[in-house]
Amino acid sequence: VPVDTRHWIGGERIASAASPASATAATFTDHSPLDGAPLAEIARGGAAEARAAVAAARAAFPAWAATPPAERARLLHAVADGVEARIEDLAAVETADNGALLRSHRRGVMPRVAHNLRYFADRLLALAHDDFETRGHTNHVTWDPAGPAVLITPWNAPLMLASWKIAPALAAGSTVVLKPAEWTPLTASLFADIAHEAGLPAGVLNVVQGYGAEVGEPLVADPDVRRISFTGSVPTARRIAATAGAHLVPCSFELGGKSPLLVFADADLELAADLAVEQFDNAGQVCLAATRILVEESAREAFLGHFLDRVAKLTQGDPRDEATDIGPNIHPRHVERVDGFVRRALDAGATAITGGGRNTGLAGLAGLGGLGGLGGLGGNYYLPTLLTDVAQDSEIVQEEVFGPVLTLQTFPDGDEDEAVRLANDTRFGLAATLATGDRERADRVTARLVAGTVWVNCFFVRDLSAPFGGSRASGIGREGGDWSFDFYCDLKNTVTAPK
Ligand code: ADP
Repeated sequence: VPVDTRHWIGGERIASAASPASATAATFTDHSPLDGAPLAEIARGGAAEARAAVAAARAAFPAWAATPPAERARLLHAVADGVEARIEDLAAVETADNGALLRSHRRGVMPRVAHNLRYFADRLLALAHDDFETRGHTNHVTWDPAGPAVLITPWNAPLMLASWKIAPALAAGSTVVLKPAEWTPLTASLFADIAHEAGLPAGVLNVVQGYGAEVGEPLVADPDVRRISFTGSVPTARRIAATAGAHLVPCSFELGGKSPLLVFADADLELAADLAVEQFDNAGQVCLAATRILVEESAREAFLGHFLDRVAKLTQGDPRDEATDIGPNIHPRHVERVDGFVRRALDAGATAITGGGRNTGLAGLAGLGGLGGLGGLGGNYYLPTLLTDVAQDSEIVQEEVFGPVLTLQTFPDGDEDEAVRLANDTRFGLAATLATGDRERADRVTARLVAGTVWVNCFFVRDLSAPFGGSRASGIGREGGDWSFDFYCDLKNTVTAPK
């Protein structure tokens, strides 16, 4: 599938020039996590491209903001049609670029990208607050588009997460500059073409490629930017917030997590084991993943039995194969990081109940040698891992690993307080999952959890009308439903005197 990997600015494809001053090349190479093979040369943006893209978004803003909602909605549906027509291409490109399963890109992720666009298009047309009265005066609330938004996205679900931001921003009447992650630049470029072919006016959606430090920072610092929406790591969010603070630009941050899976002895333990194994999806590269299993002491053995039965049935391999359950992690550097967490935990006394290292059995598949000699296919595959004998204050329990690595801890029988204490005892607050057969217990525990989303006897069920986001180090603000419109708009209340 050919992809134009130049920037998309103001309705034109733009290449980057090499910069002799900073000794940077005009492009960088994008590699596939499947085998380390080079996929494409990508335009390497810097301050000039950031400025040009924000200027284009600013220039297009007045006309887009003035476009009637019904027309904006129609265009978003047209883009969704374009996405649906190219699901196979988008899925193939995304799998080559980020290594997640082809079947889930085909049947889950890419259809959802289209759905994201349709949902916010429809929601726009339904957007309304009830008027209310103050001493005979009418209060009427409207959403004024805020202006150019910078959207910075990560590599674990590239187009899915980008479309989550693009759809509400464009529906709201704001224009955008998207900067995809440098490890997964391809579907954003393809999406720009699809949006253009669907008739989206020039400058409404701009895509710049490159490294965070080179093109992300000048985007965030640009004084014409009115909103910044970021999904990524905590340290990057801190830098963005500091820069955005200079211009008082509102930020929406969706960051990491270290979410608990609480398994009570009254739970359906087969279901609890299903939920636990789901945490290996996308090779564990999911911010919401419930990576800390907290099980009631007396249920430990039975739960573990069911869990290990399921792990034994998982197929790890090429993400393009229908039968594969777990593909590669994103990049040799990332696998190194994941393995570092596991090594240090083992050195500190943890026990690997299962997994605990790279899947060397797959090394034989390593056709192309991989990046920097770190290994090909086998090098990027990490065994689904469960560690126990871990201390609550240890790194492996406190820090996000972002790989197929879970920890198992227990709490004393009947000690709900201790379960809640352990669940809440990290700096994060993104999500929590409970397995229990007792609805009253679920309500009691849920009320005490610090989490933006709590799943009871389920996982990953998500409705776009629901608020989504985290507390504490997991983020600021909520995406989804009208919360997204609130973010990409300046709300206006008009008070009218009685006649
Ligand atoms: P991850 O650990 O998921 O790679 P990052 O926060 O480093 O998390 O990256 C998420 C996104 O943020 C990527 O698109 C990356 O290029 C971008 N990014 C990284 N550093 C900066 C920065 N200083 N300013 C703006 N964007 C950045």
